[in-house]
Amino acid sequence: MSLRNEFLQLIAQTSDAPMGLEMVKAEGVYIYDYQGKAYLDMISGFSVANIGHSHPQVVAAVQQQAAAYMHLIVYGEYIQQPQVAYAQLLVAHLPASLNCVYFTNSGAEATEGAMKLAKRVTKRSKIISCNQAYHGSTQGALSIMGDEYFRNAFRPLLPDISHLNYNSQSFIDAIDEQTACVVLETVQAESGIVAPSAAWLQAVRNQCTKHGALMILDEIQAGFGRTGSLWAFEQFDVVPDVLLLGKALGGGMPLGAFIADFQLMQTLTHSPVLGHITTFGGHPVSCAAGKAALEVLLQGKYIASIAAKHQLMQQLIQHPSIIAKRSIGLWMAIEFEDFSLNHAIVKRCVANGLITDWFLFNSRSLRIAPPLVISEEELKSMCTILVQSIEEVIALRPEF
Ligand code: PLP
Repeated sequence: MSLRNEFLQLIAQTSDAPMGLEMVKAEGVYIYDYQGKAYLDMISGFSVANIGHSHPQVVAAVQQQAAAYMHLIVYGEYIQQPQVAYAQLLVAHLPASLNCVYFTNSGAEATEGAMKLAKRVTKRSKIISCNQAYHGSTQGALSIMGDEYFRNAFRPLLPDISHLNYNSQSFIDAIDEQTACVVLETVQAESGIVAPSAAWLQAVRNQCTKHGALMILDEIQAGFGRTGSLWAFEQFDVVPDVLLLGKALGGGMPLGAFIADFQLMQTLTHSPVLGHITTFGGHPVSCAAGKAALEVLLQGKYIASIAAKHQLMQQLIQHPSIIAKRSIGLWMAIEFEDFSLNHAIVKRCVANGLITDWFLFNSRSLRIAPPLVISEEELKSMCTILVQSIEEVIALRPEF
């Protein structure tokens, strides 16, 4: 049996059309397949590889920590220096109220932990989230996912959840004395890069404060410079009560986190004790990798370079078949008239050595989220291949 057939047989599949590329190496902005073909990674493994793949400083940190120790015991028992050091670095770059870190395995687990925290802090159960929001695939996170197609087969899910439109007055009006928390993305990712108005996000913040509900901002995709600032919320002049991180947090290793004020986090220590339990959460190798990755991001002045790169992308990605472009920082959705056209362009891009995809809730839009360390030359070549791929597909119409 070929490796491809074994992959399809032995590795549980969740779609009938996996990308199915056989990759053997990744470095910087490139991923290489078994035949040595280089692909420019235009989506950073869904916003994970913000500092590129296998950065030497991250690899060194992983090797060093793996040689010292890997897993020792469940979360929170032993003092593990890599966790403490990474938490120190994170909180040094966060507002004063976000000063205590619970490290998890994944983004979904961070969502779960934060929802539980909100219930413990407020002693309430009502949770409000947004239509077209994605916060993870476990059952609590699925309950607040903003799409009935993906939720329906798994009912019953959590009770007391309302889904309302992002950027809408009804979302603000729904926040009341029964509300434990609102959970929303600072910039919606899977709806196809939709940013809120600052006034709306601030109104959400004020309404949460007024009614004692926690504001939970999910920056699992939007964090770590993707939007042009280290944290997306900085651009909207709000501070959440709880921040969710994941993806780029681990520098390529699995890691998530929910971050809040120490006093809030203390509620997880009693009644019941062990308010959230995880075996591998905050894995020392992941924490060492994540800290090294954040150091690279901060020292490399990459975030400062994003505004110019954003301009370049706006300027170079032009084609009459593009219906809309939505973007912030080094993150863009390019909308075409329908899925079949977008699908054909995505396939063409991959054939031309450019990795891209569409969005979970917006299949007409093509995803652009390259590593933030991409050079201007690489970015220009990325835009050229993309426009050329669009051109090739349009030239073949209606055969595609
Ligand atoms: N929140 C957002 C905005 C995400 O994009 C994702 C993953 O795509 C998650 C949460 C869940 O993260 P994970 O896949 O690590 O569970």
